[in-house]
This record gives sequence, structure tokens and C-alpha cells, in this order.
Amino acid sequence: MKSTLLKLLKFLPLLGLFSVADLNARPGAVIHSDPDTVHDWCNKVTLAIPQIKLNPCVEAELTPVAVTSVKGRPIMLREFKPEQQSAARVLVIGGIHGDELTSASIVFRWMELLQKSGGEAAFYHWKVIPVLNPDGLLSKPPRRVNANGVDLNRNSPTLNWRREAPHHWTAKTGRDPRRYPGTAPLSEPESRWLHDEISRFRPDVIVSIHAPFGVLDFDGPPPGATGVEAPTRFGRLHLHRIGVYPGSLGNFGGLKQGIPVVTLELPHALKMPTERELAQVWSDMLKWLRINLVERRPAIVPVAVETSRESTGPSRAAQAARQAADDPWNLCVLPRAVASGACARPLEFWPAAVF
Ligand SMILES: [Zn+2]
Repeated sequence: MKSTLLKLLKFLPLLGLFSVADLNARPGAVIHSDPDTVHDWCNKVTLAIPQIKLNPCVEAELTPVAVTSVKGRPIMLREFKPEQQSAARVLVIGGIHGDELTSASIVFRWMELLQKSGGEAAFYHWKVIPVLNPDGLLSKPPRRVNANGVDLNRNSPTLNWRREAPHHWTAKTGRDPRRYPGTAPLSEPESRWLHDEISRFRPDVIVSIHAPFGVLDFDGPPPGATGVEAPTRFGRLHLHRIGVYPGSLGNFGGLKQGIPVVTLELPHALKMPTERELAQVWSDMLKWLRINLVERRPAIVPVAVETSRESTGPSRAAQAARQAADDPWNLCVLPRAVASGACARPLEFWPAAVF
């Protein structure tokens, strides 16, 4: 009965009762989280990645985004919303390369921590994508590239992509099929969706996870522009810049879009770090987020409106007040700002214990 129903559903678009294009018309939307879809997805993913158990996956409240992979597999997303709209936004992406299993496993671990979290992590707005490349992960054996044979981490629209990406692939990799950048930037549904999601969500930081180089990489504008400095270490992963590549997410996000991108290169693609090491990575990452996204923000903007008889336009203070109101960050999260009375909209949600 159930399979008959599923078959019927597949034919509905042909009958014109609804169209897949309708779903794709709003790529930011998420499809209703059908328990069968999630269960089926988790079943396959947990078979491919033994470190992830079925129940935690099913209970992770994953929702398929409105765009699917080349082979029509769901790309799952989990959003953790803070109580305050003005919290910093963090985008986490695992499983960009399908054969780096630990890069997805660690994201599942983080989702468990975020689900339980009543601590510091709960004050950020997280969007978490555990597996961006489900076709790569679920092919047998798992593959780095997507179902079109494209390396999704070489398919972002970086500067001069059309000249540099094919040249780099030919001259530097010897046309390595594992690093094929595709025929055009954003030629793939997975990278296209990620690009659109970055535009919609406007993350303050992107955390991208790979393996197996065992280092921490960072791409971003100068710290003066965002207040974000490269981390020195997360656990045993030390900062070691591995350079930018045409079409890579670090190149696109960090250098073209001005969004700091921290890349965790786990030490092994198949074997997870120890529990202790995982805990240290998580704790160091939260500390880095706090220092860079909260404590090291620019000076508090005064919001008292000055009156100036000479000026016909808005006063500097009024402009500053508007800027503060527009600032999705609301700098008044800092306790010292609240204490000084400089904030128009003091936020109580940052507990002193966090600092
Ligand atoms: Zn990778």
C-alpha cells in the first residue's frame, strides 16, 4: 500500500497536480520534513558512516532543503535558532567531499551538543548541513566528487573562475578527476544551493569541515574589516594555511564575500578523533567564536540623538543610532556596554558567565 502510494506521488508532477519546479521556485524554503524521507536518508547515511547511529540521526530534526542533489537525494539542514534575532550567525558544512566520512560524523556530534546545549552555543544562530554531497557519500565506494564527477569545493564562483579553475585543474592537478571543477561556476545543484543559502543567511562565520590533513585553515578579510582573526588552534588542529584554490569555498567566502571561513581538516577521513579531542575542538571553537564574534566587535555605537541646528541631515549620533538599529549584531550584547548605558536596546540574553 505504502509503495503504491509512493509510486502515485512520483506521477503527480506528470499529471500537473503539482510541479517540482514549484518547490524549486523558492530555494530558501525547506520541504516539509516527511518522517519517511528523514528515516530513509538516515538509514542510508548511517549505513555509509558507521560512527553515526540511526536514532540520533532520525531525532536530529533534519529538514530537507528545497533543492536535491544531482541524483535527487535530499540535502538535509538543521537550524538552531537563538532566542534573540540579533545573535551572530554560524553556518556549518560537513560532507562536502563524500569520501571524508569524519567530516559528516563530527557535524552529527555537534548537532547532539547543540540540541542539549543550554550554554554558550545556544546564543548563536546556527545552520548546520551535515552532508552537502549525499551522492558522493552514498556512492559505493564513497567518492570525493558529486554524481556529475565535480569537486564541489572547486565549483564556487571565485574571481576569474573561468580562466583560473580549468587552468589550475589541468596544470596543477594533471586533470585529476577527483578535483574536476566542472564546466562552469555553480554548475552543480549542491554548490548552487549552498551559494544561495550563504546569500540568504549571511553568516558571520562559515565553518567548513574536511579531512585528512590534520590542520586548521582560515580564509577571510583582514581582521579590521570583520573583527575576526584566524584561530590558532582547535584541539590538536593548529593553524596552517593551505592556500586558496579557484572555486574553493574558502576562496569564495573568505576572499570574495568577506565572510571568514574556518576550515577544519580532521586528521583522518575514516577514523574519528577521540572523545577528549572532540570535546577540546568544540570548546576551542566556541571560545574562538565568542572572542571574535562578540568580544572583539567594534566599539559600541552611542545612540543618543543629538540635535544640531546647523545640520539639515541626520546628526552623526542619529546615523550611528540607525546603524546600531540596523546592525543585525546589536553590539549591546557586551555586558560592559549594557552597564555603561550606551545601548538603545540592551540585551539581557548574554549571561555574565559566558565571558
Ligand atoms: Zn575535503
